[in-house]
Amino acid sequence: MQNVIIVGSSGRMGHALLEAAINDPELKLHAALDRADCPQLGKDAGELLGAHCGIKISADLQTALQGANVLVDFTRPEPSLAYLEACRQAGVGMVIGTTGFTPAQKETIAAAAKDIPIVFAPNMSVGVTLLINLVQSAAKVLSEGYDIEIIEAHHRHKVDAPSGTALRLGEAAAAALGRDLAQCAVYGREGVTGERDPSTIGFATVRGGDVVGDHTVLFAGIGERVELTHKASSRATFALGALRAAKFLAGKKNGLFDMQDVLALR
Ligand code: NAD
Repeated sequence: MQNVIIVGSSGRMGHALLEAAINDPELKLHAALDRADCPQLGKDAGELLGAHCGIKISADLQTALQGANVLVDFTRPEPSLAYLEACRQAGVGMVIGTTGFTPAQKETIAAAAKDIPIVFAPNMSVGVTLLINLVQSAAKVLSEGYDIEIIEAHHRHKVDAPSGTALRLGEAAAAALGRDLAQCAVYGREGVTGERDPSTIGFATVRGGDVVGDHTVLFAGIGERVELTHKASSRATFALGALRAAKFLAGKKNGLFDMQDVLALR
């Protein structure tokens, strides 16, 4: 049985993770953490769910790491990297769902994975994990004469754009075509842009309301379009995937994994 720490407990994903962890008989909620100025500190982690679980939300990371097996992080890049260093020193595995990391920060995560096991994925849902594979297959078949555009929509509170999932889908398409996303991505268009360069992969971002997360990968050719779409209707899908990832790490000493590994889709 994995002893799990949830960080960012007062956040939108934190709530979904606590609910999923409290109701999962195969995991033990070991600690629920948030930052020191969080108003929820000292409250029972189950309180918002209407069920006391006996674990109080705390900011005491060092105490929480004692006896823990894995820390599940859906916060922001800066705190994620601080949790990463603490986990590396304590020999505790990590599930990182936070998005918005720079390439250099991603390298820091990869380096830490030499010492501890990490599942790092911008989208932990089973559906999006499958979508990544479908996009790779489609890109190989539609490699000539089809323009690739990625359209994503999220709630008004999301702070990074395009979404980490959109970027991951772009990387999957680019890799299948032997392209480097950093060289071929076009992020939004305005004014006189000229004709579309067929080697590019375009991104369009929509922000509004309470959209949990929609992603479409469009392959637009002459006379037809293929659209691969995923729509998340609840954060539970990400939370359940993250806990599946936490169980996957049991017994692993180190290594960097993603949801393709967790779901054995490679
Ligand atoms: P949120 O704003 O609702 O919650 C963020 C949490 O992080 C809060 O609990 C906040 O207190 C905590 N936090 C912020 N700064 C901190 C700090 N300096 N130290 C410690 N804790 C800090 O955000 P959210 O909607 O829950 O999303 C969190 C992250 O998860 C985002 O990066 C989002 O893109 C990502 N996300 C990933 C997936 C996935 O499947 N991988 C799914 C949904 C969201």
